[in-house]
Amino acid sequence: MSGATAVLTPGVPATIAPAGNISFEIEADQRLRLTQPEGEQVADFISFNRDDRRELLSMHSSRAVNLNWRLTAPHVLYSNRTRQMWQIEEDLTGENYCGGGFCSEHLNLARYGAAAKGASNCQSNLEAAIRGYGMDRASFNVDACFNVFMTVAYDADGKWEIRPPKGKPGDFMILRALMPQIVAISNCPILFNACNNFRLKPLTVEILS
Ligand SMILES: [Zn+2]
Repeated sequence: MSGATAVLTPGVPATIAPAGNISFEIEADQRLRLTQPEGEQVADFISFNRDDRRELLSMHSSRAVNLNWRLTAPHVLYSNRTRQMWQIEEDLTGENYCGGGFCSEHLNLARYGAAAKGASNCQSNLEAAIRGYGMDRASFNVDACFNVFMTVAYDADGKWEIRPPKGKPGDFMILRALMPQIVAISNCPILFNACNNFRLKPLTVEILS
């Protein structure tokens, strides 16, 4: 029995409300479309091998095999066992962050001070999304998280900074699943930096029929 928060019917999009989260299952060879209906909204995306949840998405393996830190179509995303998990088939925004990580209360407190106390964040969203499987914070790590539609600058002077996202209304990514998986997504709720251009918007997910 599935512990997902949602069951996606192929051809029927589901909305992830601003600051919300979702988990669902996908079969090998099914295609997932992740859309920003209003643009400028980041999705923190993790996934697990449905048959062995110790195997999960790895940004390190994905960068190392692709020899690239700007993953987009037609790159393949790999697991922590360096097996193929996803192929990015289309990516209209063409700007994603694959350095790993997600916003959390402890990170936000360090970056933005006391205002971050109790503010929603991707770590707690992802924990909530997978709780139904009996999984928790120990079930995933920062390396598992693909920050879809997120813009991060690596400037020549060494500056690393989150910048306003570039997604336009209706922009989407299509990913083909290369193994059966549990997917969890946080619709990033951060307002302390430019990640979502200071306004939270919905996302939609659809398994294509
Ligand atoms: Zn976030």
